[in-house]
Amino acid sequence: MNAPATPDSVRAAAPAAAAPAAAAANLAAWDLIHKLVSFDTTSRESNLALIDWVRGYLSAHGVASKLTFDDDQRKANLFATLPAQDGNATVNGIVLSGHTDVVPVDGQPWETNPFDATIKGDRAYGRGVTDMKSFCATALAFVPEFLRRGLARPVHIALSYDEEVGCIGVRRLIDDIARRNVKPAGCIVGEPTGMRLAVAHKGKKSWRCRIRGHEAHSSLTPLGVNAVQIACEIVTYLTNMARAFRDQGTFDADYDVPYTTVHTGIIRGGTAVNIVPRDCWFDFEVRHLPFDDPDALFAEVEAYAQRFLPAMHAVSPDTFIEFDQMSALPGFDTRGDSEIAAIGKQCNGTHEHGKVSFGTEAALFHGAAIPTIICGPGHIAQAHQPNEWVALDQLAQCEAFMRRLGDRVCAA
Ligand SMILES: [Zn+2]
Repeated sequence: MNAPATPDSVRAAAPAAAAPAAAAANLAAWDLIHKLVSFDTTSRESNLALIDWVRGYLSAHGVASKLTFDDDQRKANLFATLPAQDGNATVNGIVLSGHTDVVPVDGQPWETNPFDATIKGDRAYGRGVTDMKSFCATALAFVPEFLRRGLARPVHIALSYDEEVGCIGVRRLIDDIARRNVKPAGCIVGEPTGMRLAVAHKGKKSWRCRIRGHEAHSSLTPLGVNAVQIACEIVTYLTNMARAFRDQGTFDADYDVPYTTVHTGIIRGGTAVNIVPRDCWFDFEVRHLPFDDPDALFAEVEAYAQRFLPAMHAVSPDTFIEFDQMSALPGFDTRGDSEIAAIGKQCNGTHEHGKVSFGTEAALFHGAAIPTIICGPGHIAQAHQPNEWVALDQLAQCEAFMRRLGDRVCAA
């Protein structure tokens, strides 16, 4: 999906200082991109400085914002509505959605200041230029134009906190709009898809399995319960499940990995080779097609684990096998023939759509009965990287998308 790199010979031929300024001047959203990137909104930090700035920007255009906060009042979501000319601010609108937080730059070898978005050649560099402040900034940059043209249906701007740490913040935003009876017709989440329309992504669930065995001298293994070996039996069961999905499906060829995957990512147990290990735990994850049920899969794993308990308890009543769910993000699939998909295709000038394997807030909007698509500038391969970059051409495509969206939602 990556755009081919510009050959050095071409880059060297461009006038060194003039080119970036000219490129920036051609982008309506560049100043806003630069501004949003300048706020260090790493997920562990407050995002309130950014939110306050955006609220001020919208307010200057006569648009009010509704904030919803986290428990500590350190972070906020922002939801703002540009009403239709007839005063409708609640139904049939289109949500432009993005998260404000970014992943840490700690320990990454950056060649530019990550919080000072910088144009070099045909790319812009900075933390969040791809994931995903450029989309947020471009949506904001088009607010004046949407207002000037007058809207036939509402446009909502939704900016969330704590997406990168589990899509936490947006849940409160979605609850709040439901409570206030705001019923959008569709949502566009601007996560980086290379400006290609995605109508679905996989869901993800992860669990920790903890096994308590019984210690014994390793010359007396029958007197112990070996937690490591029981863990390995369950891990093998998961591996066989993964093979069954690979070989028997369900399949959806629109994904690069066209079936549900199951994988164990961490395992820890034991203290010495001459001790029957008492404790072992491992973390496993399912990334499932939207129509596969991760809970049914988990129930099978749990049932399999049960079979070890009688023998374990016969040695010691203190032994156990326990599972804790660690994370859950549903999958979603907005059918390619939905209205929001049609709008996305018109804005992109193409009939194509695809599906992505990474999780986003789109699933949560979709789960709240708001049909949702994903389409944003940049590529997921550049997200979370040192020297995160986005091609200026992607930013221009995003602006073209917004301009055509204006043609769909504006009265004139
Ligand atoms: Zn993102």
